[in-house]
Formats: sequence, structure tokens, C-alpha cells
Amino acid sequence: NIYTRVVIDIQEQKVYPEVAFLNVKDRKRILITGGAGFVGSHLVDRLMMEGHEVTVVDNFFTGRKRNVEHWIGHENFELLNHDVINPLFIEVDQVYHLASPASPPNYMYNPVKTIKTNTIGTNNMLGLTKRVRGRLLLASTSEVYGDPEIHPQNEDYWGHVNPIGPRACYDEGKRVAETMCYAYHRQDGTEIRVARIFNTFGPRMHLNDGRVVSNFILQSLQDKPITIYGEGKQTRSFQYVSDLVDGLIRLMNSNYSMPVNIGNPDEYTIGDFAKIIKGLVGGNSKIVKKPPMTDDPRKRKPDITRAKNILGWSPKVQLEVGLNRTIEYFKNELRRTTLDGRH
Ligand code: NAD
Ligand code: UDP
Ligand code: UDP
Repeated sequence: NIYTRVVIDIQEQKVYPEVAFLNVKDRKRILITGGAGFVGSHLVDRLMMEGHEVTVVDNFFTGRKRNVEHWIGHENFELLNHDVINPLFIEVDQVYHLASPASPPNYMYNPVKTIKTNTIGTNNMLGLTKRVRGRLLLASTSEVYGDPEIHPQNEDYWGHVNPIGPRACYDEGKRVAETMCYAYHRQDGTEIRVARIFNTFGPRMHLNDGRVVSNFILQSLQDKPITIYGEGKQTRSFQYVSDLVDGLIRLMNSNYSMPVNIGNPDEYTIGDFAKIIKGLVGGNSKIVKKPPMTDDPRKRKPDITRAKNILGWSPKVQLEVGLNRTIEYFKNELRRTTLDGRH
């Protein structure tokens, strides 16, 4: 009984993407905090197209209205300019709690605010979830494992985080956020889901967020030096955003409340990754070494046995396929910002 329908706003002359029609009993009211950001906006697209009612809460620190503008005005969609460190009273069934700066330069820009967002903000969203007797999924991170002493990392590993280093505002912020989820679960029976997300990339990443994928693509496109921090022997494992969104939705709708790693176990040294991106983009960039980042984790690769067994999930998109789509997006963004005179 699912059919698609096209909604047209007559006054705005706006045609929206097609959404499925869901019966009232299947249609959920879903809050996505950080929904105007990179991952959040892809989640919005999926849930809207499935026919749900979606409310986005975002303070636009790193998110942009443009990421969700194709839904603005749609009868199933609401966008609230709101900071999660302030209480929020709305009625929903599910909360995907993504609000938090995510790239190292962004979360280090104002470390105190990063801590407040992850602690006070998460407390507010858990308070809301408790009141409405809903379910909250926390977008946690592989950074809870810190500079890991086991490889690959499974969910039983407690982590190795420097509590006073420059990354701590984010790592410890997310660790407290996880702790809070389980405290609400134990104390009040609040339903929680915890996704430990590993490095993710794709269209709508910020050009200037300083992450390795965006830096290397932009540097290659502009024939600037590709900057490797340290010797380039550190490793990361990169997942394409559509795989992540699929994993998040499966986890939310599962009956499993322990943490689950969501990531692609394909692991690369940063040195090799620079060559791969240069090879895909072309151009004449040199690969150069810069000083290492403090407390930079030396290795990172998810053990996804749990996600496979419990959610029947595993990543589908090959690195090169995802990178080519991302490179196309970056090319268009560069063209657009040059035309606009904006950067
Ligand atoms: P992003 O910066 O694009 O999105 C974060 C969004 O949260 C932005 O729209 C931002 O404006 C919003 N936000 C930040 N502080 C807020 C506040 N106080 N109130 C309301 N909104 C606020 O980053 P992303 O990559 O889309 O990350 C989304 C989530 O996934 C984050 O929680 C991040 O920690 C987590 N995560 C991402 C990755 C990754 O590789 N992208 C890896 C691990 C975890
Ligand atoms: N809260 C919120 N929206 C709600 C319910 C609660 O933002 O719908 C906030 C509330 O303001 C509080 C936090 O969530 O700061 C935790 O709420 P809880 O009920 O757990 O604790 P208490 O209000 O007793 O501190
Ligand atoms: N990195 C790099 N050059 C850059 C940006 C990042 O060598 O221009 C390295 C960084 O030191 C880290 C890895 O790439 O070892 C991934 O960095 P990113 O900021 O994308 O994510 P992280 O996993 O550190 O949160």
C-alpha cells in the first residue's frame, strides 16, 4: 500500500522530490538534530522519501540551509533554527541526535561549546525522549576509542583517550553522551541506540572543514600541495555516506540497545590515500609532509561483526565509486562559489 506522490507548492511553484505514502500507523514523527549538516541532510532525504514527518533542529554552526532547501515548504518537513544546549519541547516518536561539530578544526574552534553541545545538548534530547516515551539514536564516534591499542576496534574495547588533549572536547564529549544514554536507559527505561560512526565522506561535506577527504580533493582540484600530517603511516577506513545512513536507520529500528560500529573496514594509510585521490582527480599537486597533529590516532578500522550479525548491515559502496561522486560534488561547489564570489 505504498505509492509515491508528488507534492507541488502552488504559490512557490516548487516541485519536491517524490515521497512514499505511509499509513498513519507506519508514519513516524522524527526529529533530526544537526539535520542541516553533511550526514544529517542525507538522513533527512531518506526518511522524507520513506514518507515520514521530519523536523530538523540545527543552529547552522557547520550546517547549511541549502543542504535541506529542497524540502522547505513540504507539508511533512519542518526546519527549526535552534541550539540543542537550550531545552526543546516538541512531540516526536524518534530522535536522531547528530548535532555536534565533527571535523577536528571545527570541534577545536570552540572546545567549550563542543563540550556543552555534547553534554547539555544530549541531556536535553534525552530529557525530551524520556518525556515523549520515544527512542533516541546517538551519533557517537570511533573517537571514543581514542588512539586504540587493539586493532581492529570492536565495541567491547573501552578506548584510549587523552582526557586533556586538544581532541578531548570531542572524544570525551561523545563518551559522556554515551554514558548519559545508558544512565537514562537504566534509570528511566528510555529507549536508546548508540552508533559509533567511523570516518564518513560524500557529497555535502564542507569544502573547508579540514578533514582529510575534503582537503585532499580540494588540494588536487586546485593544483595545490597535498598536505600529509606526519609521516602518512597513520591509517583510516572510509565509508560512503549512503552506507552510513542505511546503517543508522537499521539500528534505530532494531531492538538492540548496545553500541554498534558503523564503518567500512577497508583500511588505508594516509600516504596511500593521498595517491589514490591524486590519481582520481588528476592534476599536478605535489604530496608534501607537514608536522603531525597532536594525539592523532595511529590506526583506525572498525570490526563490524556486530552490525553484520544484528542489523544484517555491511557497506556496499566501493571507495573509488564514492570518491568519484564526491569529487563531482566538489567540482560543482567550486564552480558555484566562484560564480557567487563566495568561498
Ligand atoms: P556536520 O558538521 O556536517 O553536521 C553537524 C550538524 O550539527 C551541523 O549542521 C551543525 O550546524 C549542527 N550543530 C552543531 N552544534 C549544534 C548545536 N549546539 N545545536 C544544534 N545544531 C548543532 O558533521 P557530520 O559529519 O554530518 O556529523 C554528524 C554527526 O555524526 C556528528 O554528531 C558527528 O560527531 C558524527 N560523526 C560523524 C563522522 C564523520 O566522519 N562525518 C564520524 C563520526 C561521527
Ligand atoms: N528537556 C527538554 N525537552 C523536553 C523535556 C526535557 O529539552 O521535552 C530538558 C530539560 O529542560 C532538562 C533536560 O532535558 O534540562 C533533562 O530532562 P529530565 O527530565 O531528564 O531532567 P530534569 O528536568 O529533572 O532536570
Ligand atoms: N590528515 C592529513 N592531512 C590533511 C587532513 C588530515 O594528513 O590535510 C590526516 C589526519 O592527521 C588524520 C587523518 O588524516 O591522521 C584523518 O583526519 P580527519 O581530520 O579527516 O579525521 P579524524 O579521523 O582524524 O577525525
